[in-house]
Amino acid sequence: RAKESGKNNFKVYDHSMNLKMNKKLDLINNLHRAVEKEEFVLYYQPQVNSLTGEVVGLEALIRWESPEMGIISPAEFIPLAEETGLIIAIGDWVLKAACTQNKAWQNLGYASLPVSVNISALQFQESSFVDKVVKVLKDTELDPRWLHLEITESIAIKDTELTIDILNRLKDIGLKIALDDFGTGFSSLGYLKKFKINVLKIDSSFIRDIGEEDATITKTIIVLGKSLNMEVIAEGVETKEQFNYLKEVGCDKVQGYLFSRPVPPAEIEKMLYIA
Ligand code: C2E
Ligand code: MG
Ligand code: MG
Ligand code: MG
Repeated sequence: RAKESGKNNFKVYDHSMNLKMNKKLDLINNLHRAVEKEEFVLYYQPQVNSLTGEVVGLEALIRWESPEMGIISPAEFIPLAEETGLIIAIGDWVLKAACTQNKAWQNLGYASLPVSVNISALQFQESSFVDKVVKVLKDTELDPRWLHLEITESIAIKDTELTIDILNRLKDIGLKIALDDFGTGFSSLGYLKKFKINVLKIDSSFIRDIGEEDATITKTIIVLGKSLNMEVIAEGVETKEQFNYLKEVGCDKVQGYLFSRPVPPAEIEKMLYIA
């Protein structure tokens, strides 16, 4: 075995790897500065009632507006923020910004809607997380019922008892918990029951292939969610066919490009109505 791994163990200088590393270090440096200078904005994507077509919720999705690089998507920098721990500062900013915006819309007279905020596992595991949420709600004067927190199955891997405890404390505040990207991760049905999740978000990968065998999976997730008294939202709805199928199988809410992309607050205001 030693012979196998040891013998041809020379390495050719890998230029492309080096470039990649430099680019990553660059991005990390920039991200540090972005946190200091608050170079972030929140876009919002409507969640729509399948039957009435009304906007019934908004998901806050972060964008990084870099002076040099332009708009950078979260898929590019959130993993890096998680790797470096910067996600804590970024997550604090997001929570505050989303609650502030939602309260501002209410103050302007728009009908109240819940805003959903994505929470990374690292944030959730912070010992001060629940206190931070309480403080933000107090500072912004947003009623907790208008805040939803989106978590993923990955939060449950570490310590189930602790996860249940945090979720219960969050729900005691009066906000709702949504399970994002459902079906892609560590889906144990036992956990679904224990965690008492309010909203199940079917991952877009199932919606994409609804024309094929994933229609059955989607339908099954909807039945499961409803039987556990959860609201079900389908993510990534892009076509009329997908939407029609989802309506047919009783999916309460839908979110996707068919209705709207994530857009800046001013664009959202055109879709809201005055209470
Ligand atoms: P997510 O929470 O599952 O959000 C849904 C993603 O799907 C968003 O990508 C949204 O723009 C995109 N999407 C919505 N409808 C459609 C559609 O019809 N077709 C397609 N192809 N895509 C659609 P986005 O905004 O790039 O965000 C990607 C991920 O980054 C999010 O996935 C979430 O995991 C993470 N993220 C975004 N904002 C935050 C944040 O503030 N904090 C944290 N921790 N993560 C965030
Ligand atoms: Mg989400
Ligand atoms: Mg998702
Ligand atoms: Mg996601």
